[in-house]
Amino acid sequence: MLCLGIESTAHTFGVGFVRSRNGAYDILGGHKEMYVPPKGSGIHPREAAAHHADVCDEVLQTALAKAGVRLEDVNVIAFSQGPGLPPCLRVGATFARALAARLDVPLAGVNHCIAHIEVGKLTTGVRDPLIVYVSGGNTQIIAYAEGRYRIFGETEDIAIGNALDTFARAAGLQEPGGPKIEALAKNGHYVELPYVVKGMDLSFTGLITEATKRLKRGASLEDICFSLQETCFAMLTEVTERALAHTGKRDVLLTGGVAANGRLAEMLDTMCRERGARSYVVDRTYAGDNGTMIAYAGLLAHEAGALLMPQQSKIIQLWRTDDVECGWLSTAQEQH
Ligand code: AMP
Ligand code: MG
Repeated sequence: MLCLGIESTAHTFGVGFVRSRNGAYDILGGHKEMYVPPKGSGIHPREAAAHHADVCDEVLQTALAKAGVRLEDVNVIAFSQGPGLPPCLRVGATFARALAARLDVPLAGVNHCIAHIEVGKLTTGVRDPLIVYVSGGNTQIIAYAEGRYRIFGETEDIAIGNALDTFARAAGLQEPGGPKIEALAKNGHYVELPYVVKGMDLSFTGLITEATKRLKRGASLEDICFSLQETCFAMLTEVTERALAHTGKRDVLLTGGVAANGRLAEMLDTMCRERGARSYVVDRTYAGDNGTMIAYAGLLAHEAGALLMPQQSKIIQLWRTDDVECGWLSTAQEQH
């Protein structure tokens, strides 16, 4: 069975393909284009949506060519149904409905966060991990328990990727900020910044305000980048360690766009080794938002019998990870 996946929750419009054969899954890949906001400003939802509408046909054609498949061979169309920015989500949902009607194939509505988790599991081979999901729009520590992914800790304000990007903009760095901060941090030294963990939850806004203030008062950019990373990642590692102890899981999976950060992977790995656990990182190609992860999660849901009628295909702006019933998971995980 061949699934076409469409991603359009925020800055990225992507189309990707996954094929299943006798219970095995082949990632065929695809193509994506990113909306880049004007220098100094954050993502503007309607402008991002206009970008997605402009590029969707071209992205589809390039994705088909890169994956080496024909549109007529697609059996199911999956799309990011939420959570995300409504104008962006609507472009993806409309494109999905149009393709499904044209090809006369069923739709699968995918929770974007679950897609980040499932593609992480597929590309690393880990079965039942504690998940550290860190991206531009989300920061959650998640584990599967009794039919659902449960959230053990999360940000109380902005996501870690958004926090890094916000600081980067204030520092005059180019979007996306995360990789620029990682590069600059290599030559920095530690200065103390606010460390905000509240129970199992995290907060990043105060830390970003303080880091920005220090920079404006003349601190070195390298030092602030280094300290920002050390502080945010230590906060995440602390909560992850406590969630590991609580859930008794033996593996940790790092996924989402910020999973591309080598220092974060290293800190989680050190913590895991000290506890006798193992750490895994999603394949870098599928760390940031992409259509392929949507195709894979959609295929899992579709094969487990989830049926999405066009009238149920409205976007779900605030769709929490722990609101999703994961029919496909119950058998796979509970046998484990
Ligand atoms: P996503 O929302 O999953 O597409 O992830 C995008 C986010 O990942 C943006 O906030 C980027 O700044 C962040 N990101 C990408 N690469 C890195 C990196 N090497 N270090 C830290 N953050 C990163
Ligand atoms: Mg994402």
